[in-house]
Amino acid sequence: MRAIVPRSSSPRAARSPSAPGGEGEGGEENSCRERAADAGAGLFGEFPISFIEVRLHVNDQTPKNGLSRRDLLKGAAGALAVGVAAAAPLRAAEVETPRLLPGNGGEILPPPLPHANGNTPIAAPNLPGVLGREASLPKPKGPRVVVLGGGWGGLTISKYLKREFPKFDVVMVESRPNFMSCPMSNLWLGGLVEYDFLCYSFLDAAARHHYTFFNATLLDADRGSRIVYTDAGYIKYDYLVLSPGIDYDYDAIGVHDPADKSRLMQEYPAAFKPGSEHLTLKRKIDQFQKGLFVLTVPSGNYRCLPGPYERACMVASVFKRKKLAAKVVLLDHNPDVKIKKVGFRTAFEDLYKDYIEYHPSVDVTGVDVSGKVIRGNLEDFEFDDAAIYPRVRGHKLIETLGLLSPYSPQKEAWIDLYKNNVVNDPRTYVIGDSRPMGYSKSGSTAQGEAKYVAKVISAHEQGKEIGWQAPYTSCYSMVNADPPEAIFFGSEYLLPVVAMTPLSQERIGEKWVEFGTAFAWRDEQMVRSPEMGQAMFAWGKAHYREMFE
Ligand SMILES: Cc1cc2nc3c(=O)[nH]c(=O)nc-3n(C[C@H](O)[C@H](O)[C@H](O)COP(=O)(O)OP(=O)(O)OC[C@H]3O[C@@H](n4cnc5c(N)ncnc54)[C@H](O)[C@@H]3O)c2cc1C
Repeated sequence: MRAIVPRSSSPRAARSPSAPGGEGEGGEENSCRERAADAGAGLFGEFPISFIEVRLHVNDQTPKNGLSRRDLLKGAAGALAVGVAAAAPLRAAEVETPRLLPGNGGEILPPPLPHANGNTPIAAPNLPGVLGREASLPKPKGPRVVVLGGGWGGLTISKYLKREFPKFDVVMVESRPNFMSCPMSNLWLGGLVEYDFLCYSFLDAAARHHYTFFNATLLDADRGSRIVYTDAGYIKYDYLVLSPGIDYDYDAIGVHDPADKSRLMQEYPAAFKPGSEHLTLKRKIDQFQKGLFVLTVPSGNYRCLPGPYERACMVASVFKRKKLAAKVVLLDHNPDVKIKKVGFRTAFEDLYKDYIEYHPSVDVTGVDVSGKVIRGNLEDFEFDDAAIYPRVRGHKLIETLGLLSPYSPQKEAWIDLYKNNVVNDPRTYVIGDSRPMGYSKSGSTAQGEAKYVAKVISAHEQGKEIGWQAPYTSCYSMVNADPPEAIFFGSEYLLPVVAMTPLSQERIGEKWVEFGTAFAWRDEQMVRSPEMGQAMFAWGKAHYREMFE
């Protein structure tokens, strides 16, 4: 069976699959301590936000000095132990993550508010057409919070804003007519659940939790006047929460021409955004008869780190069940499986030796859509069908609204890392996969974060402050379909400042690992089992309940 086409050789030359390795558990793995589906507050409880801000300020003026991370952390922990905001060790401790820190140093200014002059929204400007008309909504009876996005972050914060402060008038603006879940969707591709299992009604969620579902697309916002513009009229607000998710960055895989991007998106969709992309992929898998089905794993902090590996297992399970002369060819940008390495590698070897061909360190540099060839840095790969997952960036709405962080290589939002508000704007918040922090871009993380930020906004409205809560991720992956067997990985994150506490000090070097812009605590179950499979179904149901019941 053909698989790889070395640049110099004739097309469709064959090569045997690369053998899965058993390199032990992940030096490269990124996450930490796993949590149950609806786990509560962070491992380290709450830290006063004002305390954290002092340190960020100090750090902002700090030059690099070449100390090791451990030395830096030690120094910082000592300072904390005596309860002093001692400038020297704190400066040192933070120099390693300067790009995370919101603006300062004078070199880059935060985004200005267009009309930041008062506390009350002004009337909408005289704009033509729908932009100049007020949306048809009930008159607010309390401070209005507009939540953009009815995904995992938006649905959860809409519910919890009402719980935290019932006087809030919450309007959730979402362009889709109904909800379809990405989490658990790989199980549907593998034939383990029906499509209905993934689908829910926004109307039911809104009615149950006493907020308003507004089915419209948000086009723009004037944060100074506190007005958002949608394709169904403008809405005045007191707070704005943005949870728009991700967009794809096709330029990062060498596809620049808009016509090529459009064809690639339509003919070989990534299926990492919910809806038609998934329906197309499901049809492709069900109709596939023989040959090579290529999946890709992008660079960077992409949505759902284990998602592409889990998908490879589920697609391969379909081919195996049908006894097809077909293979999943998994092209990974990373030098090895990025997360849950042992669990996935073992599954590839034990269950799918004849059905998955894994290729690490493949940097996709272009795609010939008509010729069905993926251009790699070292070799090209032909395919019969594919789902091509490009690099991920923050949703384009973040850019449209002028909220891009100059520190984020993936075009994410410029927010306070502890309170999630846009820098210099305590009335606009960003949560979910458009955040710049290095947490896992997962529904589980978005839900926990949404609950916390609901508290932050509610406290702000009441003139109070609350302490920071560590985010967490709980993440199951189904690796076998017959019978359903899963593996598990859990993470809890600490931003560098909090990681300086003596308590965290004991853990760094044990299970805490560096996770991009944060530290993460790993907890994992890499031995697949039917019990873990059942736990994954329970995880899905619990997380859906969190948003819809
Ligand atoms: C295949 C797959 C498997 C996954 N598996 C897991 C898993 O097992 N566990 C897990 O925890 N996570 C998983 N995830 C990740 C999870 O789906 C995301 O991290 C999560 O959805 C992020 O939530 P969000 O609110 O940031 O974005 P989303 O859930 O994508 O929500 C964004 C919403 O905003 C709406 N929107 C955007 N722009 C506008 C606009 N201008 N106007 C109106 N509406 C707008 C969109 O329509 C969308 O509904 C998986 C993802 C995929 C694709």
